[in-house]
Amino acid sequence: MTDISALISRVPTGLWIDGESVAPIAGGAFTVHDPATGDAIADVADAGAEDALLTLDSACRVQHQWAATSPRERSNILRRAWELVIERSEDLAALMTLEMGRALKESRSEVGYGAEFLRWFSEEAVRIQGRYTRSPGGAGRIVVTKVPVGPCLAVTPWNFPLAMGTRKIAPALAAGCTMIVKPAAETPLTMLAFAQILADAGLPAGVVSVLPTSNAAAVSTALIDDPRLRKVTFTGSTQVGRILIAQSARNIQRTSMELGGNAPFVVFDDADVDAAVDGAMAAKMRNGGEACTAANRLIVANSVREEFTAKLTERIADLKVGPGLDEGTDIGPLVSAKQRDSVAALVDDAVAAGARVRTGGKPMEGAGYFFQPTVLDEVPADARIVAEEIFGPVAAVTGFDTEAEAIATANDTEYGLAAYIFTQSLDRAMRVAEALESGMVGVNRGVVSDVAAPFGGVKQSGLGSEGGTEGIDEYLETKYIGFTA
Ligand code: NAD
Repeated sequence: MTDISALISRVPTGLWIDGESVAPIAGGAFTVHDPATGDAIADVADAGAEDALLTLDSACRVQHQWAATSPRERSNILRRAWELVIERSEDLAALMTLEMGRALKESRSEVGYGAEFLRWFSEEAVRIQGRYTRSPGGAGRIVVTKVPVGPCLAVTPWNFPLAMGTRKIAPALAAGCTMIVKPAAETPLTMLAFAQILADAGLPAGVVSVLPTSNAAAVSTALIDDPRLRKVTFTGSTQVGRILIAQSARNIQRTSMELGGNAPFVVFDDADVDAAVDGAMAAKMRNGGEACTAANRLIVANSVREEFTAKLTERIADLKVGPGLDEGTDIGPLVSAKQRDSVAALVDDAVAAGARVRTGGKPMEGAGYFFQPTVLDEVPADARIVAEEIFGPVAAVTGFDTEAEAIATANDTEYGLAAYIFTQSLDRAMRVAEALESGMVGVNRGVVSDVAAPFGGVKQSGLGSEGGTEGIDEYLETKYIGFTA
């Protein structure tokens, strides 16, 4: 059992600038809360615009030197950071559960996933490629090389407090970029603990800084308005992504955007229904439903809908809800009262529109931000829950009759992040996967995230890819040097 106060006392709660935990220029702190109780956990330094600019000064000061380090040196630091995250995984998992609520087993799984980006990009750091070729007329020689983009800003969400950071920090470091990280105000402790890990792994001071703040817009605007910043990488809502893209237009900064999702989960009449139920449990209930890749709409062939929904309802009704730190918990609280109320409003709206509650449906009485694991069936197409991200433990089921109808329903959204299909026909799997307007498609599986695969969305789910061999390119510019033969 983790000693919570000892755990918190090990986290540097100042701003992490130049390899040290420091107080903000104007002073001030904000409080991080435990979603299981609503109680305060810790006060964390509150960065403002002046701190942001000071941090950019230090990033710019070391950018050239960091870019000049050998790929092997950068690789070794990332590899060491991976080892340290694994060594400290129990602390990190408990910290994440403490500040964002979800079950400890989910946090352990995120530590493993988040750590993998450090290991993967330690391997990619030494494989940055270029090319040498002749121009078609024969008179020129073309050298193409890759250079780091320069100082970057990473803005990350609360739902995967470590992995959404390492998925950006690791490729940036591998490429030779410096990075200022602005974690979500709900979950700054995990990223501050990770900053300490990077320092312990030998990362030079100033290469990565962490600016917790209660005023995200003030910090990010100060940085983006400064032309020395060369890139903005963001994971969060589409609404905030739009603001950051517009802001970065002024200084023509590069952007990578991992935004919202509304994943369709399509079960065809030829699917293995039990496998589809297993897949739905993973795609819907992973992270308590607070995932951008969460199955938002379960679109099920009418001929198997009752069998699928009954089996899913049985599994979901059986989930144990409780404080995330209790070992037996399957589903912890939602991150905040606001998030719980937003889930409740979507469920109420769907029920008012005619959806049938198969299990759950309500917030739970008492302290903390708990919501009953829920299954809704016969959800009408005009219910808000069909168009908006649920971000909670609520499965919304609708039916279909033909393959064309399933594809049209799946694509009927402004989003295009993940999609899932369940079928035993290879032909159908290929046909439908190609027809779906999404950046990622899981076939007969409920989780698509994989460090070795490019993670990213199309339509209003974002720009660019993270992870895979593609992830490092987001932090590299292509440079051409021409020679006369
Ligand atoms: P959010 O957009 O409200 O916040 C994300 C981050 O942006 C936080 O750090 C927040 O402090 C900051 N922020 C908020 N307003 C800002 C502003 N005006 N200027 C600068 N920064 C600002 O999203 P959230 O509620 O924290 O996270 C949930 C969202 O993230 C969901 O939409 C989810 O789908 C998305 N998400 C996407 C991915 C992906 O990879 N595509 C992964 C995880 C989460």
